[in-house]
Amino acid sequence: MPSLIFRKGLDLKHAVAAEVAADYHSELVDRIRNSTHRYTSGRVTIYLAREFGFCYGVDRAIDYAYQTRRRFPDRPVYLTSEIIHNPYVNGKLRTAGIRFLSDPGEDADQLGREAVVILPAFGVEVAELEQYVRQGCTVIDTTCGSVLNVWKTVRQYAADGFTTVIHGKAHHEETRATASQTLTIPQGRYLVVLDRAEALIVCDYIRHGGEARAWLARVGKAASGGFDPDRDLQRIGVANQTTMLTTDSLEIGDLFRQAMIDRYGDADLSRHYRAFDTTCSATQDRQDAAMALVDQRRLDLMFVVGGYNSSNTCNLARMCAERVRTFHIVDAACLVSPDEVRHRPVSTGRQGTTAQGPRHDEAITGDWLPRRGPLSIGLTGGASTPQNIMGRVIETLAEFAAHA
Ligand code: SF4
Repeated sequence: MPSLIFRKGLDLKHAVAAEVAADYHSELVDRIRNSTHRYTSGRVTIYLAREFGFCYGVDRAIDYAYQTRRRFPDRPVYLTSEIIHNPYVNGKLRTAGIRFLSDPGEDADQLGREAVVILPAFGVEVAELEQYVRQGCTVIDTTCGSVLNVWKTVRQYAADGFTTVIHGKAHHEETRATASQTLTIPQGRYLVVLDRAEALIVCDYIRHGGEARAWLARVGKAASGGFDPDRDLQRIGVANQTTMLTTDSLEIGDLFRQAMIDRYGDADLSRHYRAFDTTCSATQDRQDAAMALVDQRRLDLMFVVGGYNSSNTCNLARMCAERVRTFHIVDAACLVSPDEVRHRPVSTGRQGTTAQGPRHDEAITGDWLPRRGPLSIGLTGGASTPQNIMGRVIETLAEFAAHA
């Protein structure tokens, strides 16, 4: 019997709705969201960004995971790795009995026909999906439609003879999955660049060439096998991980565009360069709303709530930190006391990736809460941050401000 793949849920949306709401909903946040996006208690006013928290892709992935557990109560259900990058959500799924193939002791090679495998919102590499199908597993594919659009774009680049340059994090599941899509087309190739600094190294090679082997040692680790910069940088198409900072992605696209003009001339640009901004609308909306908040309010502090390995949350924190004192926290437990906050230092640029939940790069800052006078605090959450986590952060901030 061929492997079954479910891509549109399992017709149990209504059956699991109450359970999903109980696990992630917050009446307090709903109330604030449906009024002025502002919460005042004593001397503190907390301003909520207009857009924050679960995006459509995350909503759908979580919904499908709950439906899967309900539909297959007697079969082993697995996630390939974290369904989204939020430790609370992953913890809930573990409690529901869903196992993680990324955990020590689990072995994807041993899965048989009875196994049900849930693919995360950011998708998996082509070879990984093929393996589950070969083994006859039932597959629940929650890959977000915005990620599928990126895949379509990069396959088109490959079909037209362009190397895909992905602005993204080479270790991130979504970028690895996107890169693998380019290789489904004969002659497809890719190169991942993390940031402006790496893009400039590539641009320099486009303009002036160089010693390929030395160049590959610097940036070639995140490239398709057999990458030859002399051949593979002649025609490039730029795409980005859906959760990158749009301003960064656009700047990197412009750097490549200019390098191609310098190398091949303006008239010939379309033969050598393509670009498509693949930031998803949910990421964009949350970035715009956070910017509006920090620009329009006189904030004393800004809190960005979400997993430390959540790319879009880290980018929100980076944006906000450029304008106001910002703390990136996972949840209310990070607000240890009015004297102490645990948080991910915004400037590190590094992210934890453990399946057990990120605890890398956490710092403790003392004396974070102004003790006197009115206090304005901004608040937002990444696309993988549940509403009830935000609600507890609001309550804790209000309580600390009252008693500090
Ligand atoms: S952040 Fe964007 S691409 Fe990722 S799951 Fe949400 S909507 Fe989809």
